[in-house]
Amino acid sequence: MKVSVYFEAKAGAHMVAKFDEEETYMACLPTLETLATSKGYIVTESLEEGLEINTNTEPYDNPIHEAVQFYWGERCPEHEDGCPTCEAWKQYDSAFQGGVK
Ligand SMILES: [Zn+2]
Repeated sequence: MKVSVYFEAKAGAHMVAKFDEEETYMACLPTLETLATSKGYIVTESLEEGLEINTNTEPYDNPIHEAVQFYWGERCPEHEDGCPTCEAWKQYDSAFQGGVK
């Protein structure tokens, strides 16, 4: 999980560090807190989870795509008539992409 660290004051917050691992952040936190306190800030953080898990090469901009993938699975490498997965993707293509195949 990635951690973005901010120094925050009444005037606002600014990002001071970004960690790839929570563990590293925890190790640095006491130092960050000391630094922040000495400048009148408090330390806040935000966690980012799973933003880079999606390795699918297809554009992922609508929920129908996700639903088809969820219910029917990945596209087959080659289209076969009568295969439910292929048929589902074919319908998706014709409905949303203007028929790529
Ligand atoms: Zn198939």
